[in-house]
Amino acid sequence: MIISGFQPLSLLDYPGIVCSIIFTQGCPFRCGYCHNPELIPLKAPDITTYLKQEVILEHLHRRKHIVEGVCITGGEPTIHHDLPDFILKVKRLGLLVKLDTNGISPRVVELLIKEKMVDFFAMDIKHTWERYSEVIGIRQKHVVDNCRETFNLIQNSTIPHEFRTTVYSGFHEKEDLDLIVDQLNVGEHYALQSIRYDKMFQQNLPQKKQLDLEHIANEMRARRPDLTIEIRT
Ligand code: SF4
Repeated sequence: MIISGFQPLSLLDYPGIVCSIIFTQGCPFRCGYCHNPELIPLKAPDITTYLKQEVILEHLHRRKHIVEGVCITGGEPTIHHDLPDFILKVKRLGLLVKLDTNGISPRVVELLIKEKMVDFFAMDIKHTWERYSEVIGIRQKHVVDNCRETFNLIQNSTIPHEFRTTVYSGFHEKEDLDLIVDQLNVGEHYALQSIRYDKMFQQNLPQKKQLDLEHIANEMRARRPDLTIEIRT
């Protein structure tokens, strides 16, 4: 597993838990609005910046009295074949594990669910399935099918989870977000995230007037009071 970043402490990235964040290198998607573009290449330009697993595990061991869990994010963590082994090492420290995924690896997610290795999943739902490719920059149908399968696996699991969409008015209309929400089950958590123009993969992505997320969220809450709907800026 290539680890390119480590944040020792976060109060925001694991619901209700003080966590550390581990950033893995590499993502097959090319979302124009990606806020961590340096994590997209499979190898970072300077491999001396990679962090050793042992160093991170040692740090986590020493901070166990403060940190209750670890958020593994990217990039896309599931592209690393040794992710399950690493998660096991984290869990042996007695820490909870949250995994952020873009959904590209349903077989990995299926294994992690079956072996109860992840305590919380967060998955990006980039768009309606019909228009998914527009956001991820990959046209192959099987890639979108993979994301859809991962969505179903997480949704049908008993593991706490959230789905979230980064909203860019160049991609999304309110009706698209409604279609995404229509797929959610009773009690699920959904977050609408604003695009951030300060740093992104596609630097020339046109700046558009943002949708009124507060208004959209309020309408969603009225229509689907069985969901928890949050806005993140
Ligand atoms: S925003 Fe898109 S490109 Fe960036 S890490 Fe997530 S899935 Fe990959």
